[in-house]
Order: sequence, then C-alpha cells, then structure tokens
Amino acid sequence: MNYDLTEDQYAFQQTARKFAQQQLSPYAKEWDEQQTFPKATFIAAGKLGFMAMYIPEEHHGIGLGRLDSAIIMEELASECTSTAAFISIHNMAFNMLARYGQSSLQNVWCADLASGQKLVSYCLTEPGAGSDAASLTTRAEKKDDHYLLNGAKAFISGAGETDLLIVMARTSADGSKGISCFAVPADTAGITYGKKEQKLGWSNQPTALINFEDVRIPHDHLLAEEGQGFKLAMEGLDGGRINIAACSLGTARASLSLSTQYVKERKQFNHAISEFQATQFKLADMLTELTAARQMIRLAAYKLDTNHSEKSTYCAMAKRFATDLGFRICDEALQLHGGYGYIKEYPIERHFRDTRVHRILEGTNEIMRLIIAKRLLADENLNLLD
Ligand SMILES: Cc1cc2nc3c(=O)[nH]c(=O)nc-3n(C[C@H](O)[C@H](O)[C@H](O)COP(=O)(O)OP(=O)(O)OC[C@H]3O[C@@H](n4cnc5c(N)ncnc54)[C@H](O)[C@@H]3O)c2cc1C
Repeated sequence: MNYDLTEDQYAFQQTARKFAQQQLSPYAKEWDEQQTFPKATFIAAGKLGFMAMYIPEEHHGIGLGRLDSAIIMEELASECTSTAAFISIHNMAFNMLARYGQSSLQNVWCADLASGQKLVSYCLTEPGAGSDAASLTTRAEKKDDHYLLNGAKAFISGAGETDLLIVMARTSADGSKGISCFAVPADTAGITYGKKEQKLGWSNQPTALINFEDVRIPHDHLLAEEGQGFKLAMEGLDGGRINIAACSLGTARASLSLSTQYVKERKQFNHAISEFQATQFKLADMLTELTAARQMIRLAAYKLDTNHSEKSTYCAMAKRFATDLGFRICDEALQLHGGYGYIKEYPIERHFRDTRVHRILEGTNEIMRLIIAKRLLADENLNLLD
C-alpha cells in the first residue's frame, strides 16, 4: 500500500494550489461581502480543466479519477470554500449529462460546460421534499413530442445565474422508481426564480427557489431512461459528497494553518499563547482530525474509482466525518483567535460560516448515518468491518 501521491497527482495539487493562491485568495473576502458570483473565475478554472475534472475526455473533460479530483478540491477550498463548492456542484451535474445525456444534447452543452462559459445546477430538493427526496412531487408529463414540467425546486445553488438545470421530476407515481432526470435550459419559457436567499455562508453563490410552470422539454432532454432519475441523482451525490468533504478539509486546513501562525505571535500573560499546553493540545487534536478526515476522503474516493460494492457507504462515512470535523476545526481555530477570530478582518469567521452548510447539504449528516447504519445492519458477514 502506498499513501504517496503519484507524480500526476502531485502536479494536479500544485497547479490547483497556484490557481487558488493567485485567482481565489485575493478576492474571496470581497466576493463574500459583496455576494459576487465569480463567473470569470469559473472560465479561468475551465482553462485548467477544473470545471470538468472527472468528465470523460470525449465530452471535453480531463477524465480524472475521484481521488485526483478530491486532491484538487481540497486546494481550491483552502482559498475560497464557496467558489470551490460551486465548482463541485457544477462537476456533479455536468457529469450526469456527460454520462447519461443523449448525444444531441451533449453536442450542444458539453464544450461550454467544460470551459466554464456555461454553468449547470443540480435540482433535487423541493419545498416539501428535503431529506426524503424520493417523495418529490415536481411532475413531468409525457406528451407527443415533449414533456410538460410543473413544480418547484428549493435551495438550488447557482439558480438564476446558471445556464442549464439538471432536474429530477416524477414521470409516474411509483416512489423513487417513478422519478426521471432531465436537462432543462435555464431560460426555457415557464421557468421563474425566487428571491436570492440571504445565507449564513456560501455568500458568493446564489441560492434560490425555481418554479416550473408548463415548461416544455423535448424528449431528447431526458437523461438515461424514464424511472432512472433517482438512481442517477444518488450516484451523482456519491461523488458530490467526496468533493464537499474535500471542501471542508481544505477550509479546515487553511484555518489550522492560520491558527498555528497566530498562536505563535499572540502574547498573553507574557507568553506566546502557543506555549500554553492547552493551546498545544488543541492544535494537536486539530491536526490529527484533519489527517484522519483526509484519509477517509481519499479512501472513499478510491472506492468510487474502483467501483467497490460499498462505495456509497464509504462516501457517506467520509462526508459525515470530514464535514463534522472540518467544521469543528474551523470552530476551534476561531476560538484560538479569541475576539479577533470573530471579526471580519480575519478570514476565520468566513471559514466557520462557509463550512457549516456542509453538514446539511448533499444529504444531512443524520441521513449519512442512516445510510451507514442500514448497510452495516444488512452486512451479515460484517465485511464492512475489515
Ligand atoms: C446553501 C444550500 C445550498 C443547497 N444547494 C442545493 C442544490 O444545489 N440542489 C439541491 O437539490 N438541493 C440543495 N440544497 C438542499 C439541501 O440538500 C437540503 O437542505 C438537505 O438535503 C436537507 O433537506 P431540508 O433542508 O428539507 O431538511 P429536512 O429534510 O426537513 O431535515 C430537517 C432536519 O431533520 C433531520 N432529519 C430528516 N429526516 C430524518 C430522519 N429520517 N432521521 C433523522 N433525522 C432526520 C435532518 O437531518 C435535519 O437535521 C441546498 C441547501 C442549502 C442550505
């Protein structure tokens, strides 16, 4: 077993680090304060392949594995969590089109999505269907030459600014098996957007409700087949969960790095606060937890890359673990900064705000525990324990 990065992975990491330091770090504070969705930066990220990381090359992606992508996401998030998180969502939704879209549709969208010229949102959650996503009620009724889409999606990242929507909608009454997946151009007649939600964090990307009223979707905008939408949505989330976990990891790393410097400089009781053992124990726990979270993420990504039968369980474990710990590390970092951690002049309070939502979206951490426990209880030979 070799835990070292390969030469290629090291090169991706260094490229992502340089990009993040040059193109994200100088602007992250201002984007947060002014709620700026950095579209030009997505185009710059597209030039390096970051808008199409694990998209197959025939669809204009760079065809990386999930482990390679997680390494890149950690770097991007270490300089701007919210921008990195949107890049993660874009990759997830784009990949669904690239894997399951019809070629007529792929030919229109893939090149522009890969370059970052066009952006895509993932639309699963509804006002009445969050954790229980399979209970969604947005309906796509099949007509002669189109589907007619009616319903609403809640909390959609990028809504109002993205060009394409990957929408899960009901085509028959049968629970999760009655759900289908559609690629819908965001400016189609009948689509309207709610107000931009005012949020605790992730302030540089819009989040809004989307209403669909008699929206006509051509038949070839269906991804895969009718009834497969929920499966596609969950498959997308496996990779999405790794990337969101990596966003927590990168942000926590940045917070720990800032704290390590700060405690050496800050003096109280005539000593640098780094000299107090209570401070040292905090730092030691933060580094230990950070390292454990990174290993969990990389293990889950490896399971996904190798199509392991329990890949979804590993993705759920990594998401639960890394987003809980990532948030805790940011919170401890804020504590180590004392009152200065709480004011906006220092980036710590933004890291704390930005990582909070990772415990809620892409499946709450309670839902991750349900997924993990269900698999463990069904695992008669306890293979998951090996
Ligand atoms: C900033 C932001 C961006 C988002 N972006 C997107 C997006 O781009 N696309 C998209 O589709 N969605 C998006 N979401 C939605 C997100 O995925 C949902 O908020 C999330 O799945 C939880 O659903 P809910 O908010 O309806 O909470 P609920 O499902 O109502 O849950 C409320 C609480 O009850 C708990 N709970 C629910 N059921 C159980 C159970 N069986 N056992 C134990 N506890 C339970 C939950 O864990 C949670 O703590 C976004 C949300 C936010 C806040």
